[in-house]
Amino acid sequence: MLADSAAAQRIIELREQVYLANMALQTHNLVTFTWGNVSGIDRELGLVAIKPSGVEYAKLSPANMVILNLAGKVIEGDLKPSSDTSTHLVLYRSYEDIGGVVHTHSPFACAWAQAGLSIPALGTTHADYFYGDIPCTRALTEAEVATNYELNTGLVIEETLGSTEPLSMPGIVVKEHGPFTWGTSPDNAVHNAVVLEEVAKMALHTKQLNPQVTSLNQALLDKHYLRKHGKDAYYGQED
Ligand SMILES: [Zn+2]
Repeated sequence: MLADSAAAQRIIELREQVYLANMALQTHNLVTFTWGNVSGIDRELGLVAIKPSGVEYAKLSPANMVILNLAGKVIEGDLKPSSDTSTHLVLYRSYEDIGGVVHTHSPFACAWAQAGLSIPALGTTHADYFYGDIPCTRALTEAEVATNYELNTGLVIEETLGSTEPLSMPGIVVKEHGPFTWGTSPDNAVHNAVVLEEVAKMALHTKQLNPQVTSLNQALLDKHYLRKHGKDAYYGQED
């Protein structure tokens, strides 16, 4: 237990944020049964909250979110954390700017993952959030599946992103599996999961209508991405 009451209060807030973000997956129709998980991190405390493994959404509560440190040691909670926890932890350890991670098996994103294809940036909806094609990882090797599978899933995401700034490409599809997204907070990571599923659906329909279509031109990609996210961003209201 944490002696410090300020830390304890922060953990309560983190539990609440992560609980609400998990419930939002259901609201946005991104999950079937229990297939999906959201985590969030308090960087100051170095603690992560994540959904417990295999618990129905109706039975989730802030209290049953599992609290772990970045090494994966459970600090608070009686339930087992999500089976994908090691993947989330790799991303938090590697990308210091991210505050939330989401994994779902949302069907359109999974279709691209199962086809082994990156989701091409075909229009401005995509360009508003993802600065280029959303990459698809390579398949994991037999050895990577046999030992430390979830950790290796995180490592293959990191390998695929390479030097890409993670918040400029806040999601990926893992080959033969499905999407992982991240963001500045658990809520922002859910937002990106919703957008990834929408652009996956649009891209599939676009390719069906016109199989020859190619990614939008760089100038339009820059215009849409940078007006929302660049240092000269001007979309939305001034603070
Ligand atoms: Zn999965």
